[in-house]
Amino acid sequence: MREVDGALGASGYQSLPRWLEQRFQAETGERQAQALFHASLGAALFYNAQLLAEWSLTPDAFGLAAALHFGLVTPALLAIAAFARAALTPLRRDLLGFAVPALIALQATAVYFASASAGSPHYLDLLAVIGILANTSLPLSSRASLWTTTLCLALLALLANTPNGAPAQLYASSLTPSVLCVMMTLYSAIKRNNEARRSYLLDLRHRLRIDEVGAEARHDPLTGLANRRRLEEAARGLWAKDSGHVSPISIILYDVDRFKSYNDLYGHQAGDECLRQVAACALAEIGADDDVAARYGGEEFILLLPRTPLDEARRAAERLRAAVAALRIPHSGGEELGVVTASFGVASADSAHCRFEALTAEADAALYRAKRSGRNRVVAASVGLPKGPKAA
Ligand code: GH3
Ligand code: MG
Ligand code: MG
Repeated sequence: MREVDGALGASGYQSLPRWLEQRFQAETGERQAQALFHASLGAALFYNAQLLAEWSLTPDAFGLAAALHFGLVTPALLAIAAFARAALTPLRRDLLGFAVPALIALQATAVYFASASAGSPHYLDLLAVIGILANTSLPLSSRASLWTTTLCLALLALLANTPNGAPAQLYASSLTPSVLCVMMTLYSAIKRNNEARRSYLLDLRHRLRIDEVGAEARHDPLTGLANRRRLEEAARGLWAKDSGHVSPISIILYDVDRFKSYNDLYGHQAGDECLRQVAACALAEIGADDDVAARYGGEEFILLLPRTPLDEARRAAERLRAAVAALRIPHSGGEELGVVTASFGVASADSAHCRFEALTAEADAALYRAKRSGRNRVVAASVGLPKGPKAA
């Protein structure tokens, strides 16, 4: 997000950070390919209108013009259109895009040199029109526009320096406006590309903000774990997906022991830090993508573990209990260990026989039993299975 802001603050958008450029290309590539496809078909159509100019300006080379039009350039433009929609790298797409005006300009130059007619100085205007149309109507990137402009200017210079049977001043009078016009359209092509990047960045920033707000709304700011909302969403999804199946789902509910007295003894800030550390232990016990570790309430945490039978969940809870004690956070008002500990309630059932709320209530009841029987321990219960024994 900071990099997107940075790129938006920069004056030009030509050199985006690498990952942003790749994302821009990945997300806009298909649209650019479509645009090039349509533009090269359009160019193939309009290019042949150039035959009229060639016929009136250089009738002595019209045979060559027609041969190049129909034998080489038009088929090449159609081939470019066919390739344009393939998944191309940006460089290849730029080369294809550049090939469109390059072929047309080179064909016009060839006809110019084949003719000795008095109309040939107007080929400077024709070349300028090709450059202008390419820069304004084709979906060229800034660098493809720069290549096109460079080629047009080079050909203009070549034609102006090799007068073809007409007075030299005719060439000179065409050269300056032609060069200026082509240069101006290069500027507008660069501006258009910058604007496309800028509006992409604005849209990306908007989308990232929405993601960020969505993530914030689903996470507990103190511990970074999921919050109740995210947990309930996950449970709804899981029960909906799992309905009718009998894969076991386990819940581990745990609560920090004597936490009120921890706050009283060490202060609220130390209490917050303690909660962060205890919460982090839960992360080690979630593996699968749809496992959820959430903050359930003040100093209470919950793990939702799909496809996990009771025994496995009980072992996970036992590891977690040992991990919390192993943090060795001093707690003189705690249990006999003198460190922060937690108590655990575990419940397991299959989604067909037990709703999420009932399973959580069962884990809560097991947690209550763990508290009553001395804290710093795991109590497990299996519910919802037709003959499921309750284990403690
Ligand atoms: P038990 O062993 O039976 O669970 O006793 P307990 O003291 O842990 O339970 P109790 O429910 O009496 O106290 C919970 C305490 O947790 C009270 C509350 O101030 C504290 N607490 C809840 N949320 C936070 C928090 O975000 N930060 C801090 N520092 N304390 C919190
Ligand atoms: Mg507690
Ligand atoms: Mg509590």
